[in-house]
Amino acid sequence: MPNVFADVLPATTASPEETTALGHQLAAHLHPGDIVALYGDLGAGKTHLVKGICAACGIPEASVTSPTFTIVNEYPGDRFPLYHFDAYRIERVEEFFELGYEEYFFGDGVCLIEWPERVEPLLPEETIRLRLEHLGATERRIVEG
Ligand code: ADP
Ligand code: MG
Repeated sequence: MPNVFADVLPATTASPEETTALGHQLAAHLHPGDIVALYGDLGAGKTHLVKGICAACGIPEASVTSPTFTIVNEYPGDRFPLYHFDAYRIERVEEFFELGYEEYFFGDGVCLIEWPERVEPLLPEETIRLRLEHLGATERRIVEG
């Protein structure tokens, strides 16, 4: 499958604002039913990227925060609903079943998943994978694949 974001990624950003702006660009390529897995360490910029994607869908950036305790936040975007997951606290994939993840994954929204490695066996084959890496204090590299 060709990379969904081939005209935007790979990219290097030099500030949180640039990562958010990159998220804006990514949003144009998303469609209902897409699942985007965001790999990267703490502070890699996953939430900033999600903020940008959500902002481009009409959701105020300030309302987008990591759903660490709730696992998933739902935002009503202007083109499709957005489901923002943070699986950091998931210890067993059974917890994801209890959350009813299938309603989200196989619904008509776009899923954006932080810490996807916690639920790797549940990610569908067509999952879009993005990797965020620290290059320096304020530089981040974002690649698809
Ligand atoms: P994550 O969700 O991956 O843990 P966040 O987006 O919550 O990451 O936080 C990223 C942190 O790194 C923030 O404190 C932000 O200010 C800082 N930062 C520095 N440079 C960048 C950059 N280029 N892109 C994104 N965040 C950056
Ligand atoms: Mg985060």
